[in-house]
Amino acid sequence: STATNLELLPEVAEFLGRGPLPSFVGGKPFPAASGKTVATTDPGSGNQLTEIHDLDASEIDKAVDVANAAFPAWAAMSQEDRSSILLKLADAVEEHKAIIGQIESLDAGKIEAQAQGDVQNFADTLRYFVKLSGQVETRTKLDSPGHEAWTFKQPWGACAFIFPWNFPFLLIGWGISPALAAGNTVVIKPAEDTSLSAIYLAELATKIGVPDGVINVVTGRGATAGAALTANTQIKRMSFTGSPEVGQLVGEACGRNLVPVKLELGGKGAAVVFDDVDVAATAKALVGAITFHSGQVCCDATRWLVHEDIYDEFLSQCVDRMNEVKVGHPLDPNSDMGPVVNAKQFDRVLSYLEKGQAEGATCVCGGSSATVEGHTGHYIMPALLAGDLDNVAAREEIFGPVAYVAKFADESEAIKMVNDTDYGLANSVWTKDMDRAKRVAESMVAGNSWINAHNVFAQGVPYGGVNKSGLGGGVLSVETLMDYYRSTSVVRPL
Ligand code: NAD
Repeated sequence: STATNLELLPEVAEFLGRGPLPSFVGGKPFPAASGKTVATTDPGSGNQLTEIHDLDASEIDKAVDVANAAFPAWAAMSQEDRSSILLKLADAVEEHKAIIGQIESLDAGKIEAQAQGDVQNFADTLRYFVKLSGQVETRTKLDSPGHEAWTFKQPWGACAFIFPWNFPFLLIGWGISPALAAGNTVVIKPAEDTSLSAIYLAELATKIGVPDGVINVVTGRGATAGAALTANTQIKRMSFTGSPEVGQLVGEACGRNLVPVKLELGGKGAAVVFDDVDVAATAKALVGAITFHSGQVCCDATRWLVHEDIYDEFLSQCVDRMNEVKVGHPLDPNSDMGPVVNAKQFDRVLSYLEKGQAEGATCVCGGSSATVEGHTGHYIMPALLAGDLDNVAAREEIFGPVAYVAKFADESEAIKMVNDTDYGLANSVWTKDMDRAKRVAESMVAGNSWINAHNVFAQGVPYGGVNKSGLGGGVLSVETLMDYYRSTSVVRPL
């Protein structure tokens, strides 16, 4: 049965109808022996889409063994052959954009066109890393007087990935592309709310000839399946994207086993708006950013720091733009913004709106759930809170369509406000004065600063946070690719 009254692609209906959907390991379906499943719902309607299998720890360990067993042949393959298989996968993903995009849209509550954009981004990212890996010199001569010396680089083995629910498919692409291109095999644990596109990917990879065991998907609950993957001693690297709370647990588990770990965590980004901006254009851009995927974007600008001279005008423009946002089902082409991912997230966002006001913030726009005709999903009106930054809604990550607006008087005060946070993922500065823009961009403590823009990504530009926002360097870049090679220095006295 379809989970919405909107029409599904036949391939999507067939895929969902096959559920409960098992994990996919070693080129074949990998069911949970216990028969345990987790239901997955369409957040736009609240209806169940299908179920996924809930693996236990011994099954997770088995999947890692499969990935390690597939490693030697994949690593030994010529760069050319491996690249041609991965480029075939990128093409297949792009060819299936409509299907994967619709699965993702339904599963994650993501506007369908945006979900398709994520699928395209996966294909482009994979192509980027395949090309880059072709340029890596695996043997580099070292300058050591009196010696012949060189460094030899080779892949590690089975690399593990744990992903969140906000950008399920895109983040898989960002995560596994450098690992696969370097010759590693991967075990992917998607979030239990949004595992469908990962399962589809693993099936597709096998269909187009990716060798069995190179791309494995294990599904289940975080505290069991996820924790088992972090406790496994046979994984060679761990990459985790998600909340700081779980990131700490993952870091602890990897620390015990001395497994190198990369953490991509939350954020509480700021946008600094100076008094020389085009107020209307800046308000439009920031409202666009905070309503994109219902504000469930780790690098979002959630604190808007506005120069006091334009504060009132800016606020009123923002309210006008927010009131124009059309909240609706993600498969409805007229929707600008869909639901939040699940009931827990819905309650969380609304509770922050309440707590923020209880601590003295003023709600100038939104502040409640939204009604969408024909759908009883987890919809929230985009909201603006205003006040001083000493407020729970200004300090903690809400992860919803809520921005917190505050005033500043001068540049140094603005920078201090931006950096008064434990997070350090991404911020932006908005001004026509490029000297000031560059100065502020480099003074904000975070992995990423944007000038007159927010949420801009490109393959080749490292993305990732510092402090409570993460460790292990930026993704999407040559640095990440190099993480997926281990090196051996070889020295011979002459
Ligand atoms: P989460 O931390 O609750 O879950 C992330 C993943 O970890 C899921 O797959 C979950 O099953 C798994 N997990 C849960 N408990 C676990 C445990 N004990 N051991 C191992 N794995 C476990 O995060 P979420 O709610 O899915 O995602 C939202 C968070 O992710 C936000 O904080 C957001 O900022 C962050 N995020 C960061 C980035 C980035 O690039 N920095 C990108 C997207 C999301």
